[in-house]
Amino acid sequence: MSYSMNWDLESIYPNIDSVELEADLSKWEKQIPELGKAILSWNPDQDKPDYNTMKHLLDSLNKIQPEITEASMFISGTLSADVNNEKAKALMGRLSVLYSELSTTTVPFYKKFTLISDEEWQALLSLPEFEVFAFNLNEEREEAKQLLSEKEEALLSKLAVDGFQGWEQHYDTLVSKIELSVSDEDGNEHILSAGQAENRMYNHPDPKVRASLFSKWEKAWREQATLYADTLNHLAGFRLADYKIHSIDNFLEKPLKASRMQRETLDAMWQAISENKKPFTDYLFRKADLMGKDKLGWEDIEAPVTVGNSEPKSYPFNEGAAFIIDNFRKFSDKMADFAEMAFEKRWIEAEDRAGKAPGGYCAELPISKESRIFMTYSDSPGEVATLAHELGHAFHNHVIFDLPYLKQHFAMNVAETASTFAELVVSDATVKSATSDEDKIALLDTKIQNALAMFLNIHARFIFESNFYEERKKGLVSAGRLNELMEEAQKEAYQDSLASYHPSFWASKLHFYISDISFYNFPYTFGYLFSLGIYAQALESGSDFEDQYIALLQDTGSMNTEDLARKHLDVDLTTTDFWVKGINILKEDIQTFMDLTEHYVTK
Ligand SMILES: [Zn+2]
Repeated sequence: MSYSMNWDLESIYPNIDSVELEADLSKWEKQIPELGKAILSWNPDQDKPDYNTMKHLLDSLNKIQPEITEASMFISGTLSADVNNEKAKALMGRLSVLYSELSTTTVPFYKKFTLISDEEWQALLSLPEFEVFAFNLNEEREEAKQLLSEKEEALLSKLAVDGFQGWEQHYDTLVSKIELSVSDEDGNEHILSAGQAENRMYNHPDPKVRASLFSKWEKAWREQATLYADTLNHLAGFRLADYKIHSIDNFLEKPLKASRMQRETLDAMWQAISENKKPFTDYLFRKADLMGKDKLGWEDIEAPVTVGNSEPKSYPFNEGAAFIIDNFRKFSDKMADFAEMAFEKRWIEAEDRAGKAPGGYCAELPISKESRIFMTYSDSPGEVATLAHELGHAFHNHVIFDLPYLKQHFAMNVAETASTFAELVVSDATVKSATSDEDKIALLDTKIQNALAMFLNIHARFIFESNFYEERKKGLVSAGRLNELMEEAQKEAYQDSLASYHPSFWASKLHFYISDISFYNFPYTFGYLFSLGIYAQALESGSDFEDQYIALLQDTGSMNTEDLARKHLDVDLTTTDFWVKGINILKEDIQTFMDLTEHYVTK
């Protein structure tokens, strides 16, 4: 089969200048304020609450939200495929105004749920038209209970624009000023941005280049450390003050709610990881040995391991596509057929050309009930795995599109389930199809890296952030102290297995500066291990796996994580058993890596 490497956006709108798109945008710009008015005049605080109006408002939201999402995919997709498209840039601005107005419209709606008595609310949820949304409506109502008055909330969000969000933007400005000067082989000086330097520092095959870049890197962040410390302290300070006025005293409460999970689950996951780190540190020591070192430096962890003449197989796009479809089929015909359809219908923009945005994503089109995948495909095994990852996201969308829109929203921790699962299927297959030990070592190394980031690097971030928030409650935390907290966290997470650490990591990592959500770390590890656990079960269960798996995905938007796992996997996430099962799969990979590299060991 020969597949196109360019996606089809024309089936959504003819083009970015189309009258249809303009007409839709103008329509929503009129509809949202009208919806806002209708919400304000709805009074559920009466003897006989008017539930017809409530149903009508819900229906309107369920209609307008996916419509805007569909247009938003078209506009942002056009922009990622052509970063200089001025029209798309302008429309992105118009979209963000629409989104912000939509959220100011919906907040008072959910707030009004709290005016309904508990008794009345239960009666309401037993009505067939509301029963299907019970989980989601309850969730909105519980969240709304914590809100202050409408006026106060409006004031807070106004102030947050130049306060909370202002600090986040300030961080981006600071980072854009980071420059590292490096000289190439001919002695010419080059200026690297933070992003360029980071890429090179972690991936350069020459350890000397990595080490020299790493020391410049640390220095660059340290020189401005007080500015980053101010920014981090004020972001966290704003957040803690916000928690306080909403009577939230545990800084993990919100991040856990955003992932619809319990504290016990989080603790069990970290406990399972902490108790099973030995193979991972063994791997780090082996990798150090292969590089002729006693211990790895921070900058060596992600560097590629090459022994002998490794030249992993390359996968031109059509071969990559066939490889994915074949390997999906070993687990599920539906997944394989779906992927085949996505290739045939041109849902993927994969061409390697100038003017495209970096990175990759999968975006939903809830009206067409389709997805689009954006990436720049090179022929490496890693890219095949990435493409499989994005197809996993698209498959997840595909199985929930028939549900009402309100039930389609899964939390961040389970958002990566289908994608990681699909990626595992394919990366496992690339390892198995390696034709030499050298290739197998390189492929396994890439796979173990991924796990290492989840178990050690992300663990360090979590430990740091917890300790930082604890200290921030008592007052400002100095840059020097932040360095100490970071290094301590890294030593604990990596169990002292490295020769050097990255104390300024707290300054260099964007994830600590996102105003929307804190602890943007554990959901990654959760999603990764959760899908490993599913993968472990898939390998055991065989034929009935497909239906079970799809049923699980379909419930991701309307269940708590613990209930989801209990119902579909028959496991208890609050104990370590399930987590250990997933970790054990990786232990096997590490064991294979250790066996294969045994005769390359120098001492
Ligand atoms: Zn993903």
